Amino acid sequence: MKVQLLGTGSADGWPNAFCTCASCGAARTSGVIRGQTSALIDDRLLIDCGPEVPAAATRHGAELSGIRTLLITHGHPDHVGPAALLFRHWAGRGDPLDVYAPDAVLDQLRPWIGPDDAVHLHPVTAGDRFACDGFVVQALAATHGDATIGEAVLFDVTASDGARLLYATDTGPLSDATIAAVADAAFDVVLLEETFGDFLEHGTQHLDLATFPDQLRRLRAVGAVTDSTDVVAVHLSHHNPVDLYRRLAPWGARVVADGTVLRLGSSAVDARPAAPHRTLVLGGARSGKSRYAESLLAAAEHVTYIATAPPRPGDDEWAARVAEHRTRRPDHWTTVETGDVATVLLDASRGDLLLVDCFTLWLTRVMDDAGAWSGDLTLIDKQIDRLVDAWRATQAQVVAVSNEVGQGVVPATPSGRLFRDTQGRLNAAIARDSDDVVLMVAGRPVPL
Ligand SMILES: [Zn+2]
Ligand SMILES: [Zn+2]
Repeated sequence: MKVQLLGTGSADGWPNAFCTCASCGAARTSGVIRGQTSALIDDRLLIDCGPEVPAAATRHGAELSGIRTLLITHGHPDHVGPAALLFRHWAGRGDPLDVYAPDAVLDQLRPWIGPDDAVHLHPVTAGDRFACDGFVVQALAATHGDATIGEAVLFDVTASDGARLLYATDTGPLSDATIAAVADAAFDVVLLEETFGDFLEHGTQHLDLATFPDQLRRLRAVGAVTDSTDVVAVHLSHHNPVDLYRRLAPWGARVVADGTVLRLGSSAVDARPAAPHRTLVLGGARSGKSRYAESLLAAAEHVTYIATAPPRPGDDEWAARVAEHRTRRPDHWTTVETGDVATVLLDASRGDLLLVDCFTLWLTRVMDDAGAWSGDLTLIDKQIDRLVDAWRATQAQVVAVSNEVGQGVVPATPSGRLFRDTQGRLNAAIARDSDDVVLMVAGRPVPL
């Protein structure tokens, strides 16, 4: 199966022509221009055809003369540009074209079909399965659509070579029924919408950077997405961050430029980003480091959260902080409360996912237990060596959080200075054996 993405943008594209935001500015400067989302399969099956799509095909070196099948997801105007049928007529194309779409979309197309055009309209509703031109297509229920545009569907397309694609835009979080309908699909490629980026209060039937990884997690849990699935985010709007590729990589997803050709089973899969084995997330207080570390694992089904905080009986403010962290963690994560992080790291198996939050509380706990605040670091150094050895040896994919404490004024007390210096040494030792190190500043990750 050859898949060419004729567009990867939202209705208004990214950049939005009318917008002066930083994201649109960066897209303009770098020349990464995204138009309405559409996919051309094997040069003869087209999914979605917004008004920009025919011209986009030309710009990206594709021809639409060979199209025999057109699948349209729903009636929003960025997915249906009926004038394409008139352009096809002007080109004298007399060969048949089969169009599969929900009823309301077919109503939009009818006035644009000439009396002698061999265009055949087939109404589609979620759950329908049909064969067309060597493909087998299953329509799935999208979480999208309303009384004004009618039903919205997604398409699960299998080519004659067995390659299988999920075209999943536009939709909000999928229903359990739709997830169940693709169980064990082991798609070769999933084109999954991610319209709204970090703008989470959009109140629309679309995905964003909070719901996208969770959608991916659910698709993984049922075997629809596997380690060899190429997951490409589409329907991207200017609400997305400039460094979107970096945000998607830990979830095993990526972005590609408009016009990109995915050849399933070869280059597409080779290009998949591999999640780093050991990631250290540093930052000051309230820099967003815990939230960022958690987001790196948001697309994973099983995560073990290692809480290193020593118990602090009678400290209400502390209890409130711990409770806030706990409510943010997904229910399907497992929490282990321990000061013995080294043993957890060493006991973990390949494929386990661990989040350690954090090495600063761990160090506090170890120094408390060893009575080291007066300055005898013999026991502490042993513990640090043991932790660093375990960090280096662990089979697990692990993300750890630690505080960057060296940037304020010199602490007034000897114990404060001792802690600052020991924390600095610990961070440097862990960073030396990390595959990825990030410093959080003002909620933004800075790769080191
Ligand atoms: Zn759309
Ligand atoms: Zn839509």
